[in-house]
Amino acid sequence: MLGTMLYGPRDVRCEEVPEPKILKDTDAIIRLSATCICGSDLWPFRGANAVTAPMAMGHEYCGIVEAVGSAVKTVRPGQFVVGSFCISDNTCPHCRFGFQSSCEQREFMSGAQAPLARVPLADGTLVATPEIPPDDLIPSLLATSDVLGTGWYAADAARVQEGSTVAVVGDGAVGLMGVLAAKQMGAARIIAMSRHKTRQDLALEYGATDIVSERGEAGVARIKELTGGVGADSVLECVGSQESMTQALQSARPGAMIGYVGVPHGVTFDGQQLFFSQRGLMGGPAPVRRFLPHLMELVIERRINPGKVFDLALPLADVAEGYKAMDERRAIKVLLRV
Ligand SMILES: [Zn+2]
Repeated sequence: MLGTMLYGPRDVRCEEVPEPKILKDTDAIIRLSATCICGSDLWPFRGANAVTAPMAMGHEYCGIVEAVGSAVKTVRPGQFVVGSFCISDNTCPHCRFGFQSSCEQREFMSGAQAPLARVPLADGTLVATPEIPPDDLIPSLLATSDVLGTGWYAADAARVQEGSTVAVVGDGAVGLMGVLAAKQMGAARIIAMSRHKTRQDLALEYGATDIVSERGEAGVARIKELTGGVGADSVLECVGSQESMTQALQSARPGAMIGYVGVPHGVTFDGQQLFFSQRGLMGGPAPVRRFLPHLMELVIERRINPGKVFDLALPLADVAEGYKAMDERRAIKVLLRV
């Protein structure tokens, strides 16, 4: 079959790879309905993470179960499933506490930019739909696997509540999903920071009430101005750079929580500054599995449309063009047809 391999900076290839097989009795093999490129795939693509050996890319997935290992009890061949990018048993103390992304048996999904993928710990990781969903829901169901689940976690970690004021730093796909999540959680005011017209429009469609196009100190000043000099009750940091983290901390009011889901690259904190700022930080890889049943239900009931975040769809063979389009910010998020 064809699969996506990253060989080094800006060298991603669609090439012949071996088909995945059941390796453990807790595995499942799924036939993907669609797959996609994640903003976090751009870190190794851009050379921010060293690539020492060819990497099998892709960790967002949904599709039909093709085969299961002998110990798998909760899913069976023929079912449509979605799973998190974090593999989890969903039974250990961390999973039961709602942090499946810190599962004692945690693995990170890989190799999903392909027609078939192996999902370890299938019982803990996969959630099946009651019926095979209609084709037009596939992009939105795929989004629940990571991008929506991550934006949702950012809002959850930032303790967004009914009536609260939320600032979202980052207008990538995750930031836009953070806007959607904050809206669903009842935020009264959602300030999206974005300088790009198409992303601003989508943010407004997903529920943003204000757009701030300034960055850095000017951006912080604008948020202060919009909040009567106070700052936001909750801030979602969806980038992972020092600039975006500083912006998030400074946009928050004392007592606020910052949900940070952009993988930090070169981000450092000053302990004393953090102490006196009285802002809380909660982040990390999203425990998407905690939110999956609810998010899948919202999609199936057509109450949310996260799939709109895919503004470019390409065949898997053109995966390299997909990475380029996202790298150059010509596309917000790329769906791959398999
Ligand atoms: Zn666990």
